[in-house]
Amino acid sequence: MSILNETHDPALRSWLASAHAGGTDFPIQNLPFAVFRRRGSTEPARGGVAIGDQIIDLAELHQAKPFSGRAAEALAAGSQSTLNALMALTPAHWSALRLALSRALREGAPEQAVLQICLVPQAQVEYLLPARIGDYTDFYTSIHHATNVGRLFRPDNPLMPNYKWVPIGYHGRASSVVVSGQNFARPCGQLKAPESSAPVLGASQRLDIELELGVFLGQANALGEAVPITEAEDHVFGLCLLNDWSARDIQAWEYQPLGPFLAKNFATSISPWVVSMEALAPFRTAPERPAGDPAPLPYLDSEHNRSAGALDVQMQVTLQTPAMRAQDPASGAVICTTSYRHAYWTLAQMVAHHSVNGCNLQPGDLLGTGTLSGPTLEQAGALLELTAGGKNPIKLPNGEQRAFLEDGDTVVFRAWCDKPGQARIGFGECRGQVLPARSL
Ligand code: CA
Repeated sequence: MSILNETHDPALRSWLASAHAGGTDFPIQNLPFAVFRRRGSTEPARGGVAIGDQIIDLAELHQAKPFSGRAAEALAAGSQSTLNALMALTPAHWSALRLALSRALREGAPEQAVLQICLVPQAQVEYLLPARIGDYTDFYTSIHHATNVGRLFRPDNPLMPNYKWVPIGYHGRASSVVVSGQNFARPCGQLKAPESSAPVLGASQRLDIELELGVFLGQANALGEAVPITEAEDHVFGLCLLNDWSARDIQAWEYQPLGPFLAKNFATSISPWVVSMEALAPFRTAPERPAGDPAPLPYLDSEHNRSAGALDVQMQVTLQTPAMRAQDPASGAVICTTSYRHAYWTLAQMVAHHSVNGCNLQPGDLLGTGTLSGPTLEQAGALLELTAGGKNPIKLPNGEQRAFLEDGDTVVFRAWCDKPGQARIGFGECRGQVLPARSL
């Protein structure tokens, strides 16, 4: 588990001016990873690290061999076309590379000349998925989301009896995880109105978002070997933004008895940047577990998890309708603001639970946290909750309304960490636009 060290010092300054630009997501204290190439080029994809408005090209930097030891090993792994090899290394490797990059980026660093020629402007690149995602599992860690959604179906008994004991999840589909900026067609599927006796095949009319964080896993555990909660975070490489687009009408008809299927696997968007657990260390906090709730079973409990298992990652959802875009391409309405700290189950509990039966987790596997709704309605991370199942459409500042997403709507997730005495770090954005359904 990460502790604070010299890389978190809020007084650090980089020789790169844009690393200090007001509101930048990528100061020297962040250093998140992505996979990129110059837009429209046939260059090979390779790993990169964000600094200000630039990317350090890790393949280019690897050629210069500026580091030694674990930092050099991690740099070599990070120069590949996916980050799986880097993720498969140890937290000591990730930390060594972070420290080496942090020192090389500081004002007066002798490595400035070497790094400077490895910079690529973020404005000139296209991003690819950070990893080859072998498996994707989506959890349900917000008790507020579980309660809000449960209430729509079971007003008297919204929370299932297992919720406070089991970090609930389901196996999702990895092939349809896409990187921010890739748009997708409104999905078609079986729809059955409550008053109809039979379903029809049609385009979803109740297309929704789910505000989540994605968790990229690092080093593997062997099949049959559980990861103890005290070691769980050593298996987490970092976090990104995740939008689990959901077709509520398809979901309502198909979900019993085996849970989400085609309502969820047509597209899942993630942000290109993966923020390391070490970068997030200053923003740890105690998870919220109300007095009187059952204590977690011992395999889901640790001193560290109780005191600092949660992360205060502030999150925001912006909706841009075609009418807004026509007025101003940069416009949008904020429809939700919340924080990851409200989650009931922590990252470490997700990993410990997923592996308790011996399930082997692999480098590059992706976990979703589940919709991260906070305690109030304004903090709800899905339209299903914000509109009470579509009954109370949200009113947008330009006079439009939305119960669910319409064709041409763009949704942008943003997240950042900010607190007194620490440098603000951000996640960039996760963006996607709903295109019209393909004709049947
Ligand atoms: Ca979800």
